[in-house]
Amino acid sequence: MNNINDNLTKALKTVQKMIGPTALQKCYIDLDAAARMADFSTDLGIRRCLVISDSNTRAAAGEHVFLALRYAGNGTTDLVLKMEPLEATIEIAEFVTEKAANLDGIVAVGAGTLSDLAKYAGNKLQKPVLLYATAPSMNGYTSSIVALRIKGLKQTIPVKPASGVFADPEVLVAAPSRMIAAGFADYLSKSSASADWAVAHMLRSEPYQPEAFEFYKGIYDELLSLASEIGAGKPEAITKLMQGLLLSGLSMLAAGASSPVSGGEHLISHYLDMKSAFEGVSHDLHGAQVGVATIQTLSLWQQILNTGPTSIDPEKLSSNYPSEKDIEAAIEEDWGPVAKTILEQWRPKSRTPHEIRMELEVFKSRADEFLGMIRKEMETPQKIAQAIQAVGGPITAKELTIRERDFQKAISNARFLRNRFTVLDLAAELGLIPPFYDSGN
Ligand SMILES: [Zn+2]
Repeated sequence: MNNINDNLTKALKTVQKMIGPTALQKCYIDLDAAARMADFSTDLGIRRCLVISDSNTRAAAGEHVFLALRYAGNGTTDLVLKMEPLEATIEIAEFVTEKAANLDGIVAVGAGTLSDLAKYAGNKLQKPVLLYATAPSMNGYTSSIVALRIKGLKQTIPVKPASGVFADPEVLVAAPSRMIAAGFADYLSKSSASADWAVAHMLRSEPYQPEAFEFYKGIYDELLSLASEIGAGKPEAITKLMQGLLLSGLSMLAAGASSPVSGGEHLISHYLDMKSAFEGVSHDLHGAQVGVATIQTLSLWQQILNTGPTSIDPEKLSSNYPSEKDIEAAIEEDWGPVAKTILEQWRPKSRTPHEIRMELEVFKSRADEFLGMIRKEMETPQKIAQAIQAVGGPITAKELTIRERDFQKAISNARFLRNRFTVLDLAAELGLIPPFYDSGN
């Protein structure tokens, strides 16, 4: 395990070189993670802390953490969040904030939801947060953003990162296999999101820092090759996955945004989450949705790579592109009473047919060089699907616990949810997908 922890320490130093001092000071994976976390909490001057968990994570790892903290002389207040299902909403985040107000710090025992609740509260109170990860299920442990539901809308909020992230391989291995598969799929979103970020830079001048991909070097290919072992629950492979997820979070921390790992595939997942919140249908695990969506967005990239620039006809494509009025009508139809909030996200990204023609001219003139560059790095959707399947994760919308037609709608309509240019926008402009979902009414 020494190698892994040395590598994580080195990666943290690289982040500090890139962005200066950061609250995140320690990432540690080993069998003595609980004791190390307790010692670290003492180093941070935490005397009394709030420990949040849910019924499952409390049973999986809670006792271990309490014993270690108490042994280190730390007074603990136990808060088990029993809401079923537990979601990261602003109301619950504010509740946690209130409970931690008179204590020195917060420890979250859990995965994505509990981490986000703790990071939000710690940021608001300006108190240190320690994360005791119970599953390698997503890449947000080390990031400086949280995803919270505010009035039903999933919003990404910048926060101070946790001060330390700790994980015990024995706890990780015992996590539900579908959570492990979800983490693996979330990790692979980079394969499509990295190209989205590059094209957003070229066409919409979004700030782009390819150095953020530093944290994938070496380990990305290794994890792809470990898919079957992760699926078989081999401790070493699962520990490696956790390492990869922590490093993936560092790429977001270094970029100061989720852009390196979150493009069109994440928008599709957000769309499914929001349909779930507003229409009461079920959603699936974040990473499970992201995995199926990544296969979809990679297919779009593959179509773009195969089309080639010469057949792009900006004049014809832009004249076929719908008017803003038609798009707004489609958003109203899809979202009803909350359409207004979605329009606020969409409008800054919206372009007139004339502007789209200009944009496609730029894309066409630079496509050879650009596509040549991304072709070298991009995986095929088949390869990613095989890897996710080897881990036991879902690869089609049918296998997700969602309303299936929402996935189809999301391919066209998810791009309206956020002012971030992705392959979904490019594919709509190139006429590869309908520019909005037409319900046929
Ligand atoms: Zn994700």
